[in-house]
Amino acid sequence: MKKFILIFYLIANFCGCQNTTRKQIDFNKTSQEMSKKTKIKKIIKTEAEWKVLLNEDEYRILREKGTEAPHTGIYNLHFENGTYNCAGCNSALFESSAKFDSNCGWPSFDKSIDGKISYSIDKSFGMLRTEIICRSCDGHLGHIFNDGPTQTGMRYCVNSLSLDFKKEKN
Ligand SMILES: [Zn+2]
Repeated sequence: MKKFILIFYLIANFCGCQNTTRKQIDFNKTSQEMSKKTKIKKIIKTEAEWKVLLNEDEYRILREKGTEAPHTGIYNLHFENGTYNCAGCNSALFESSAKFDSNCGWPSFDKSIDGKISYSIDKSFGMLRTEIICRSCDGHLGHIFNDGPTQTGMRYCVNSLSLDFKKEKN
């Protein structure tokens, strides 16, 4: 049990990578502004229906806010051209052009497709983080940090198991 807690602590900390001294961004406000601009079709299912649709690991992450172990996800070091959709509802969330290697162990993006993601304060495990959620099905994706190395300054840290890559058609 102790080992499990230690591993979880390491994962949670890794996901945060380093503490950032940058100014906190009001993601809730951003989310509300975005919701007004972009209408989205809500996908509502019972937990029993989700359990049929998703495998055990996908369910744990998308529906129970789990985290996959770092450096294990299929999209961590995946750099093909296309779109990363939500593994729960197929909503397009990130373009491959926004993906970068953060060395964090999870797929990282510097921006999302407009209006597809909502943000929520997450105070679990003694940390203050901003959770990112699929606006369409309310599936847990990961967290966002404002320590990104690109012009946007953002790092969307996403579980591979929350994503389903669609390759660009030539
Ligand atoms: Zn979704």
